[in-house]
Amino acid sequence: MPSAFVDLHTHSTASDGTLAPAEVVRLAQKANLVGLALTDHDTVAGLPEAAAEAERLGIAFLPAIEISCSYPPPGTMHLLGYGIDPASPVLAKMMRWLVEARDERNPKVVARLRELGIAIDMDEVKQEAGGQVIGRPHIAAILVRKGYVKSMHQAFAKYLGIGAAAYFDKERLTSRQAIELIRQSGGVAALAHPVQLATRTDSELRRVVKGLLDQGMQALEVIHSDHDRARVDHYTRLADRMGLLKTGGSDFHGDYKGVELGVANGQRVPREWMDVITAVVRT
Ligand code: AMP
Ligand code: MN
Ligand code: MN
Ligand code: MN
Repeated sequence: MPSAFVDLHTHSTASDGTLAPAEVVRLAQKANLVGLALTDHDTVAGLPEAAAEAERLGIAFLPAIEISCSYPPPGTMHLLGYGIDPASPVLAKMMRWLVEARDERNPKVVARLRELGIAIDMDEVKQEAGGQVIGRPHIAAILVRKGYVKSMHQAFAKYLGIGAAAYFDKERLTSRQAIELIRQSGGVAALAHPVQLATRTDSELRRVVKGLLDQGMQALEVIHSDHDRARVDHYTRLADRMGLLKTGGSDFHGDYKGVELGVANGQRVPREWMDVITAVVRT
């Protein structure tokens, strides 16, 4: 049995988490984790602060990012980039584009909510987000706080999720573009939470994963808060069979999501998985 554990999927206030990057690292130490990756959506802004705190506390740190890709609904495809260089110019350019895509979408969501009689405006949303990357969880948190819904989950079910009353899509990268971006920035690309692809059969899942492998993806997120043990076993076999590295994490978002740092649906991620990815990043 492994005795040391890591969390390779976490969010901070740089995107849609509620703890500052250094606070996520300090919580990782409190949770006895030996390693951490910060995987904020569409931004590397939190990485310097997290890296410095990890160094100070003696925790292994992998700088990372999570990018949403175009994919047919009701599925969603997110790619993780591990070991990216936060100073990569291609990444900087693409992050500007991704934030612009959010800036196009978010006011549409807010305008529709107002049409539905909800008192909300973009200034409040910007304040809730407190930074560059504004996401639907920031809007959801306002809906909860004002009593329009009882929970974040209900905010998505009723208003913000795919097909709900105030859902608007945003422009996304293709998986090919995202993988190329991650690799050009020195990173290892991993498919996040494959359960969210919403594939209906195993052969469909294998086809999608094989397609990503052919595009240069190197790892599969096997352990995740949305994966029960049967799924973890299934994805482990798939990764091993396809020669993909394994990764995992809680998808911690602080108060915005009810998951504990370091624990994904009762499972923990062995530090060896992080060591292997780190070794590949360095070569
Ligand atoms: P965005 O990137 O702005 O489109 O927002 C997507 C984010 O919303 C995801 O990264 C999750 O943090 C959160 N999210 C998506 N679906 C749900 C849901 N059904 N319940 C709660 N949070 C969700
Ligand atoms: Mn999120
Ligand atoms: Mn995701
Ligand atoms: Mn995530």
